[in-house]
Amino acid sequence: MRHGFRMLLALTALAGLLVSAGCVQHETGWATAYLPDHNAKIPVVMPQSAPSISQQFYRDPDGSGHLGIDVIDRIGTPVLAAAGGQVIDSYFEPAYGNRVTIDHGPNADGLRMLTVYKHLNSRGVSQGDRVERGQQIGTLGNTGALAGGLPHLHLEVRREVRPQVFRAIDPHTVWAGGVGQVTCFDPTAPIEPGSFGITYPVRCR
Ligand SMILES: [Zn+2]
Repeated sequence: MRHGFRMLLALTALAGLLVSAGCVQHETGWATAYLPDHNAKIPVVMPQSAPSISQQFYRDPDGSGHLGIDVIDRIGTPVLAAAGGQVIDSYFEPAYGNRVTIDHGPNADGLRMLTVYKHLNSRGVSQGDRVERGQQIGTLGNTGALAGGLPHLHLEVRREVRPQVFRAIDPHTVWAGGVGQVTCFDPTAPIEPGSFGITYPVRCR
C-alpha cells in the first residue's frame, strides 16, 4: 500500500511538472466547455489536428467578459491571419502585450469585420500592411499581464454594428466552414474571396 501511495505521489508530481512545462494533456483537438451560467453556447466541432482551445467567449451583462477565444500552443508558434485584410494596429501595451488588428473590410451589409490577436511573442506586420489569409503576422506568446504567464493566442472577432462602432462576437459564429466548424487553414484549398469567414489562426498539425 505504501509503495502504491508513493507511486501515486510521484505520478502526481510528474503530472504537475508536465503541466507547468506547458505539456498540457490535450495539445490538439480539444475545446473547453462554455461557462455554464452564460447562454449563447455554440456546439464546437474541433478538428483533431487543431491546437486546443482553453477558454471560450462570454460576455457579461455589463459588456465585460472574455470577448474572444484562447488557443494554446508553444511560444514562437506562427500566428496566421484568419482572413485577408489590412493591418490597422500593431503595438505593445502592458495588459494584453503585443497585439495586431486586421480590418477585413466591409461584409455584404457594408459593415466591417476585424480580427484582433493578443499576447503575441513577436509582431511581424506593421500598420498599413496588407495580409493574405494564412499569412504569418507574428508568433504566439504570453506577453501582457493578462496572459497570466500562460502561452496562448487570444483571438477576437469584432463586427461593425454601425459606422465606427465595433462589438466583439463569438469567433465560433464566423468560421469559413460554418457556425461552430473550426476551420483549419489549408493553402491547397483556397476559400473563395468575398465571403467573410475565418480560418484557424495557428497551423493544424
Ligand atoms: Zn483570452
